[in-house]
Amino acid sequence: MSEPFKKQIKVTQPLLPDQKDLAEKIKEIWDSGQLSNSGKMAVQLERDLSGFLNAEYLSVFSNGTLALQIACKLLNLSGEVITTPFTFPATVNVLEWNGITPVFCDIDPITFNLDPDRIECLISEKTTAIMPVHVYGIPCDTDKIKSIADKYHLKVIYDAAHAFGVQRNGRPIASFGDITMFSFHATKVFNTIEGGALAYNQPGLKERADQMRNFGLLPDGNIAVPGTNAKLNEVQAAVGILLLKKVGEEIHRRKERAAIYTDLLSGIPGLRIHSPMESVMYNYPYFVILIDETEFGIHRDTLFEHLKTHNIMARRYFYPLCSNLECYMNLSSSSKDRLPVANRVAEGVLALPLYGELSDEEVSYVCAVIRESRMSIDAGV
Ligand SMILES: *Cc1c(COP(=O)(O)O)cnc(C)c1O
Repeated sequence: MSEPFKKQIKVTQPLLPDQKDLAEKIKEIWDSGQLSNSGKMAVQLERDLSGFLNAEYLSVFSNGTLALQIACKLLNLSGEVITTPFTFPATVNVLEWNGITPVFCDIDPITFNLDPDRIECLISEKTTAIMPVHVYGIPCDTDKIKSIADKYHLKVIYDAAHAFGVQRNGRPIASFGDITMFSFHATKVFNTIEGGALAYNQPGLKERADQMRNFGLLPDGNIAVPGTNAKLNEVQAAVGILLLKKVGEEIHRRKERAAIYTDLLSGIPGLRIHSPMESVMYNYPYFVILIDETEFGIHRDTLFEHLKTHNIMARRYFYPLCSNLECYMNLSSSSKDRLPVANRVAEGVLALPLYGELSDEEVSYVCAVIRESRMSIDAGV
């Protein structure tokens, strides 16, 4: 059996700006005397991101969760919103915080995204929108979702927290739906420590969102619609400006790591590598495998613990399923027999360490430990 790795291999490591570059930016901010409220850095970051993401109308926020809450307010969502249980709980919490009932829809067994063929039977007279997630950065079936939304006059807000910089058939990910949310949390491919953005495909939304992130204040000091405080500060924006110059290289490095994983993990019975379709220009946010206990020989949780004893911190992402969380388990759409695919996938997925700085040696070691975890079972060890 392999010895535990000499140092802990984390599931991710944040992309960091060069300290010297950041010190220069901070000097600029200190000299300006403006620390927040859409200062020079935040305005520049919005412009840079608009270009990078090919999104004409875009605003930055203090985090992705507040951005998503504001998106729901902007589109006046109420009643019920159809979403996926296979997501980070923030997606669903946002609906609750807006007084909206989440309605869980099962997922596609290949993409792990909301299954568009199961949406229509969940639509009721209370439904106002669909909130799909581009899970692990793999685009949803946006065409089918759009045709259903159009037919029933529903809004579509995409949670693209994982999909920074992704394109499908040359189309930027922000071009689908009414609004797309990005998260710039430290663990995402691109970060501003904490942060997020909305990209809009409807005219007029940016102006209202920018007011809403600043208490709802209008230029004359009046408030027509009460807002919240969701502004990105100048230091965070500076981090973003600097990291936008590094993120292309980071994605490239991640792509290379993913290729090594794919090479070393191919052909293992019961281990499926989750990867995007050909048409996707991908951003490699996670390296996810799906373990089929029967074929692989051990349960995902056993593998997860086995990796941990070897100093490898994988992550059961997303587990538990949102529909099985204490706060959502009593919704009628949460029942397990309505969500068979999502429940099966949540029991089998495992995100392996992936980030640009991960070494070839570390990737090879992780793969060796995974192979050996099976063999030890085969041998009855
Ligand atoms: C990270 C994440 C969020 C929340 O974003 P924050 O910026 O951390 O608030 C929402 N949805 C998904 C799918 C995420 O992964």
